[in-house]
Amino acid sequence: MKALRRFTVRAHLPDRLSALERLSTNLRWSWDEPTQELFATIDSALWEQLGRDPVALLGGVSPRRLDELAVDDGFLARLDALADALDTYLTQPMWYQEQREAQPSWPTGIAYFSMEFGVAEVLPNYSGGLGILAGDHLKSASDLGLPLIAVGLYYRSGYFRQSLTADGWQHEDYPSLDPQGLPLRLLTDSAGDPVLVSLDMPDDARLNAQVWIAQVGRIPLLLLDSDIPDNDHDMRSVTDRLYGGDQEHRIRQELLAGIGGVRAIRAFTAVEGLPEPQVFHMNEGHAGFLGVERIRELVTDGGLEFDTALTVVRSSTVFTTHTPVPAGIDRFPVEMVERYLGSSRLLPGVPLERILGFGAEDDPTKFNMAHMGLRLAQRANGVSLLHGQVSRGMFNDLWKGFDQDEVPIGSITNGVHAPTWAAPQWVQLARELVGEDLGSLSEADTWQRLQQVDPGHLWWIRSQLRDLLVADVRRRLRRSWLERGAAEAELGWIANAFDPGVLTVGFARRVPTYKRLTLMLRDPDRLEKLLLDDERPVQLIVAGKSHPADDGGKALIQQIVRFADRPAVRHRIAFLPDYDMSMARLLYWGCDVWLNNPLRPLEACGTSGMKSALNGGLNLSIRDGWWDEWYDGENGWEIPTADGLADEARRDDLEATALYDLLEKSVTTSFYERDENGVPQRWVEMVRHTLQVLGPKVLASRMVRDYTEKYYAPAAQSLHRTIEEVDGVPFGAAIELAAYCERARRSWPRVEITDVDSYGLPDTPLLGSELTLTATVQLDELGPDEVVVEAVVGRVDASDVLLDPVTVRMAHAGSPDGIELFTATIPLPVAGPVGYTVRVLPHHRLLAADSELGLVALA
Ligand SMILES: *Cc1c(COP(=O)(O)O)cnc(C)c1O
Repeated sequence: MKALRRFTVRAHLPDRLSALERLSTNLRWSWDEPTQELFATIDSALWEQLGRDPVALLGGVSPRRLDELAVDDGFLARLDALADALDTYLTQPMWYQEQREAQPSWPTGIAYFSMEFGVAEVLPNYSGGLGILAGDHLKSASDLGLPLIAVGLYYRSGYFRQSLTADGWQHEDYPSLDPQGLPLRLLTDSAGDPVLVSLDMPDDARLNAQVWIAQVGRIPLLLLDSDIPDNDHDMRSVTDRLYGGDQEHRIRQELLAGIGGVRAIRAFTAVEGLPEPQVFHMNEGHAGFLGVERIRELVTDGGLEFDTALTVVRSSTVFTTHTPVPAGIDRFPVEMVERYLGSSRLLPGVPLERILGFGAEDDPTKFNMAHMGLRLAQRANGVSLLHGQVSRGMFNDLWKGFDQDEVPIGSITNGVHAPTWAAPQWVQLARELVGEDLGSLSEADTWQRLQQVDPGHLWWIRSQLRDLLVADVRRRLRRSWLERGAAEAELGWIANAFDPGVLTVGFARRVPTYKRLTLMLRDPDRLEKLLLDDERPVQLIVAGKSHPADDGGKALIQQIVRFADRPAVRHRIAFLPDYDMSMARLLYWGCDVWLNNPLRPLEACGTSGMKSALNGGLNLSIRDGWWDEWYDGENGWEIPTADGLADEARRDDLEATALYDLLEKSVTTSFYERDENGVPQRWVEMVRHTLQVLGPKVLASRMVRDYTEKYYAPAAQSLHRTIEEVDGVPFGAAIELAAYCERARRSWPRVEITDVDSYGLPDTPLLGSELTLTATVQLDELGPDEVVVEAVVGRVDASDVLLDPVTVRMAHAGSPDGIELFTATIPLPVAGPVGYTVRVLPHHRLLAADSELGLVALA
């Protein structure tokens, strides 16, 4: 019989064990090894069987065992110590509190919005890198003490579970999650009733959501859930799946995350008595409607003019883009946005045309969520140096007239949360080298202490981790073959599949085309030779999910599976279904080489290679994303790219050949070159070097500090300055800035440089000779102190385009006859063909950059 409904009943804990409740529901356990060990002690078989899920464990363990533990002094001592440690962790001042002492303008609250969060496998609320990154952001924010509140959606089915059919085709299951069986509590008001967030929908419908709270160390993660009886069927299904539906489904999710997310925060801070967030961070453009909701609040509740409200919102919003191609950007039909936001019921006080303006792009029928993010955020960034550059190019049109380098989009390279992703063996070694407090691992110097460690010991750790991986691969292979219809009797070979002594290469990631899952199959014979080499074999573990609607991706998986199914090679190559955090962890620990061959520059950052590096894995990768930035010639291998080639097949051939060459000539040789003790000295030195140079860089704690110092703190400052009173008028500064922006936009068509004169240069100018420029400028309604006039000087190419020019601000030198005169004297900065021009930009103390408004007038 199949049950009609299911729910979870939590066990009643003996009083003496009540602290287990706290330890199991705060997800901090997921990166705290001693707490995990405590859970394992309760019932180690059950712990493993339930996939290391403490809430499930406490629901499943026998009451008799709990009674036993309630009088077990050894257990109780550990329990109390860990409960105390958790309390200390949650309350003691951390890095953020210490820094804020000296910098009181740092925000008292930050809101972080993302459509997915991969915190731990027990809360499968993610599909891939973006979600895992968001999870790592929260965990590091917790470790550093940031006052951050995170917001997302609660998906009833999370992302799908992947299995394979007999012929290697991806099959998806959507197991329903029961929130009561998860480490979640419901947000309730002071009367104990669930708080409901409510959004007006077209045709008098309403979308209501309750709010689950997951506690991620110090960070509350609010997850909105529309599957409640208050909604009609259509609205109940809004949060059914992550990336599951059509555009209609998607826009509802994004309206709920953005608008509902702000409303959830307001309810949460009111109930908990917490300060309101000052800075709002959009992790990708999906939650962009949050900015529109904040404008509505300021207009309808605060009585501000629309443009004043926009100014306030912009000053305090940070937008992170993760997309390196226009095709990857989330866009809706304008007609759809009109339908949801056109009636003023959802967002009264916010004119539809203004909202449509935020998402405007080249195609007038499309509403572009990334453009909205950029227009609503005064500060924006990409996620690696290269991706920052790619983003400046991609969004250059929003700042027409500016060179790509001047587009105000910066970059912060992603990072990974070490306590989540580093193997316990490495954590143990770190403790031996630096002591109990691992905080100093953020200092590059600390990692130099690895110099003292014996190569044999480093190799021993690597080998242990490979052993663990091989055991896990065999387990997963067996399960997969059984699921695909094989009989146990046919699976004898699995006991010896994969070999703990063989060079192990990992390739695991989602399967969009640009990641090129099957590049390794470009020359199947050559791959097979590598796998089966007598002296220097390679074994290859492949995993990844294809988007359920992407049959192309599924066909790639099938190609790999068919290759790997053959008896000749199946002991050396496998596709493991259902890539998730628990599989990923063992892969990052155990793979000797982490392979990545995306189409450059389509990998915005990539983080799996960082997790591998953190465990002494060596990256073998195309110079894309983070690897372009931090590859140093000795910490792994670069696969040379042919990214300039228009012929895609030829590019794939060249890059695949380069990959095989590296594996044959370089990677395998140093792995198998052993000293008299069987240690591959050259290899181990690369492992050591990788840990030393990449260890301190790849940390999510470094990333979160960067966000704090370069984005959150400046945004909070901008907000303070923008909402200041002027002459007793609240929000006076914002009113002033909004008026300035309006005036600048109105005047701009008539801002003109009417004349430029140069003098002072000798007949044969030398490097350093002084050039004096004067410009006469018409400024329409703007004053000379409301613009900057810049001389731009530098080398020119054959068509007179300035290359890497120097800009010098010109001084105002008077206003004869209503014309403004500006002048500057510049030593010639370079030799060779040199050119100059003059330009005018708007300037206001409350703009983050003079390029911000996208206005420029050139001579
Ligand atoms: C880190 C991680 C990713 C992201 O890896 P990329 O290198 O960005 O593709 C995806 N899935 C899981 C489970 C991860 O742990």
